[in-house]
Amino acid sequence: MVDTSLPNIDPVFPCRDCQAGHMHRDYIAYFTWLGDELISVPDFPAWVCDICGRCEYDENALTRLTLLLSPNAGKTISATRVKAAKSRIKPKVQRSTQPD
Ligand SMILES: [Zn+2]
Repeated sequence: MVDTSLPNIDPVFPCRDCQAGHMHRDYIAYFTWLGDELISVPDFPAWVCDICGRCEYDENALTRLTLLLSPNAGKTISATRVKAAKSRIKPKVQRSTQPD
């Protein structure tokens, strides 16, 4: 009898790459650049396939790390301003190709 509803069992996903293996919760080193500084996280939550070894960093952890590292974390980016600038249609300048 297999009870998968146990709360303390980590979820396992089928591998998207080889489709035969399963992605297991694991902790691997994560490296990223912050400006010209290399940041390393020794025990970063990730998912590792037991067959092909494919690894995916945990999305939630990545989002949190990005927020931590981002100098603009917590700031609201005015999307309306970008949108307004984008919707503005610039007149296209037609360039005549000159023969050599
Ligand atoms: Zn795999």
